[in-house]
Amino acid sequence: MAILVTGGAGYIGSHTCVSLLKAGHDVVVIDNFGNSYPEVLHRVEKIAGCTLINAPGDIRDREFVETVLKRYRCTSVIHFAGLKAVGESASRPLFYYDCNVVGTLRLLQAMRTAGVKKFIFSSTATVYGTPQYLPYDEKHPLAPESVYGQTKLAVEKMLEALRTADPEWSIAILRYFNPVGAHESGLIGEDPKGIPNNLMPILAQVASGRREKLTIWGNDYETRDGTGVRDYIHVADLADGHMAALKVLETAGCRTFNLGCGTGYSVMEVIRAFEHVSNRAIPYEIGARRPGDIGEFYANPVQAKEQLGWQATKDLRQMCEDMWHFQVKNPDGYNNSEL
Ligand code: NAD
Ligand code: UDP
Repeated sequence: MAILVTGGAGYIGSHTCVSLLKAGHDVVVIDNFGNSYPEVLHRVEKIAGCTLINAPGDIRDREFVETVLKRYRCTSVIHFAGLKAVGESASRPLFYYDCNVVGTLRLLQAMRTAGVKKFIFSSTATVYGTPQYLPYDEKHPLAPESVYGQTKLAVEKMLEALRTADPEWSIAILRYFNPVGAHESGLIGEDPKGIPNNLMPILAQVASGRREKLTIWGNDYETRDGTGVRDYIHVADLADGHMAALKVLETAGCRTFNLGCGTGYSVMEVIRAFEHVSNRAIPYEIGARRPGDIGEFYANPVQAKEQLGWQATKDLRQMCEDMWHFQVKNPDGYNNSEL
């Protein structure tokens, strides 16, 4: 009896694998390492003090997934595998639909054949689109503007239809806000392949001298200091959210939860917090708004608190501290650092 974690070598998946192993679950990871490294799984094992099963492969390979589900007698699936770069999704829409939508379809088909009907899905706050009100609650209209967000919404709809057609399915759709931070050990964290697009990994690279400066994308938003506001959530809190969601899978249904802190911080506030914990000045310049960016959004996390008994516990200082610790221990990411 095991839990299959797709994308388990990735940023959020690896932290969730640590939580699962520490809670005593058997864990099987399917990852194609398109945006991660096998090394991550060794580090997960080191932190947890026990082993997991690494089944390298692609979720779009239905027969392979079915074999893995059966061989390891998996009882549920936590599905992180997917592509997540908003900008790239505009230039490579078919690639994104293939991986995120067709990939999830193949995975669900394999699950159905193997008789596994418990599923946790990584969705995103991006499905809400331009805020009609804030904080976003789960009933906020859904109008994603990016191709990435559209692929996530397509999967959400597929899951709702599946559950309507077959009431035995038990599904949790988790809409993450902005995951940041790293494991407190400094062994695992975010090390995207290629050039990072998100604020925190860029900040960590600027503070360490790996990049020259940060460009703030716009300081003329209607926010308290003009820079963009987001609901940052520590990746360890997010991992705990999956542990809480696993418990509600015991009863059938399709439920959706925001996983966020409920508090927004501006780019300037994040820069100041990062300067404080790293004790380094962060050089920055003001640039134009990033096309498609929303000025401000944050979560109403009450539903997760009431129904999952989960809420975020780590503050912005902790998020920056752990991010910085990972950067210092792994100055070139996973490539050249030792266990
Ligand atoms: P990540 O890129 O670090 O992890 C995704 C993992 O999936 C990687 O290890 C990658 O190699 C693997 N993968 C991708 N396509 C695959 C495929 N076809 N077959 C097998 N493995 C595959 O990303 P993350 O930040 O850990 O995000 C995990 C999930 O959460 C994604 O689905 C993402 O869309 C979603 N999400 C992320 C964020 C964020 O800001 N990090 C926010 C909201 C939602
Ligand atoms: N941001 C920025 N410079 C960067 C990267 C991000 O000013 O180099 C801003 C961005 O405009 C947004 C916030 O930081 O207001 C968070 O951006 P990120 O890409 O991390 O998250 P998302 O916009 O996808 O929620």
